[in-house]
Amino acid sequence: MTKFLSDNDKEFIWQNSGNAIGMMTEYQVVPTPKNYHLWFTHTAQSDLNLSKVIDNMIAKNMPFNEELNDKLYEKFFSAEKELKAVVETGAKFQQELAKIVSAIKEAGDDTAEHTEALVSHMDKLADFEGASELRDIIEVVIADTDKIKKRSQQLETKLEESSMKIEGLQTNLENARLESRTDALTNIGNRKYFEEKIAEYHQNFAKMSHDLCLILCDIDFFKKFNDNYGHQIGDQVLKVVAHVIKKELGLQGSAARYGGEEFAVLLPKAKLAEGIELAERIRTVISQRIIKNKTTGANFGRITMSFGVANLHRDISADDLIQKADSALYLAKSSGRNMVQSEMELDQVVSGDSISA
Ligand code: GH3
Ligand code: MG
Ligand code: MG
Repeated sequence: MTKFLSDNDKEFIWQNSGNAIGMMTEYQVVPTPKNYHLWFTHTAQSDLNLSKVIDNMIAKNMPFNEELNDKLYEKFFSAEKELKAVVETGAKFQQELAKIVSAIKEAGDDTAEHTEALVSHMDKLADFEGASELRDIIEVVIADTDKIKKRSQQLETKLEESSMKIEGLQTNLENARLESRTDALTNIGNRKYFEEKIAEYHQNFAKMSHDLCLILCDIDFFKKFNDNYGHQIGDQVLKVVAHVIKKELGLQGSAARYGGEEFAVLLPKAKLAEGIELAERIRTVISQRIIKNKTTGANFGRITMSFGVANLHRDISADDLIQKADSALYLAKSSGRNMVQSEMELDQVVSGDSISA
């Protein structure tokens, strides 16, 4: 059904459109349809979370470049968000439907009891003189009650069928969501999955002070490996690395492919030392593994990885945590590769100990 805009609506839209274009001009944002959507929503104040984020960025003088605008759009308007809403609504709908099915079932059971009661009353009537008229009436009542019972049974069956169909659709949607968070090559979480998880863990930290460790790791001299043996063999290496990380991590946390040849491991409720220990374990297993072609037996030697580990402290953002792990990884690279460095070593470098040593 088409809903026409009132004069007030039109005036509001014209005014907001002007405000949005005005702000975009001020912050040098190209008015692409996506950016217009973003800034219109902000000036119209129709998503207060979005407005809060933009106001914050303006206060910090952050440049609204293409990357930032894309990120904001992804965060607030991506299809993913809608998909999530659909899944959640579907789940609620399913629950309501289950309640209706059980209410109908109960009503059906009551009707069955009534029929039984009526039949037994009718049997008693058999002994009375002149009760045949009454018996006829009761028989009609029983027939009607039976009809109601059958109808409610049909309704129950239909609702159960619908409920099953909804459950199937729900599973499809959940699978689609899962797929959109999985890296197709290595079959572990992708960047989007990582971002969701780190936000989730970060919130847990804020609420319950749960520790969180982040390991970022990157294959050493991988460009050279690709140049020597080709991209396809390189892809096999990425699969091996993902497999080792997943195996060593077990069910303790979440692993994701963070970028091309870079992986991230999130270890909730873990102190820095536990993160370092896990990183060491992954590093050792990978450095000892000989990369071979299973069918031809061709040997591609070994690869190594460098690791950066950081721990979440009070008052730091998820971005700060990533930044710290990334700096530790950079330190591992610059200190010779095939090693684990953490924020502890980072602190030493910052204070000058490591440099003067
Ligand atoms: P460093 O030790 O400093 O990390 O050196 P590097 O050569 O590993 O790093 P650099 O950033 O120079 O190169 C990264 C390489 O990773 C280049 C690119 O070919 C490779 N790479 C990234 N993604 C993939 C992928 O999906 N498959 C394959 N085979 N290679 C990839
Ligand atoms: Mg590398
Ligand atoms: Mg890299």
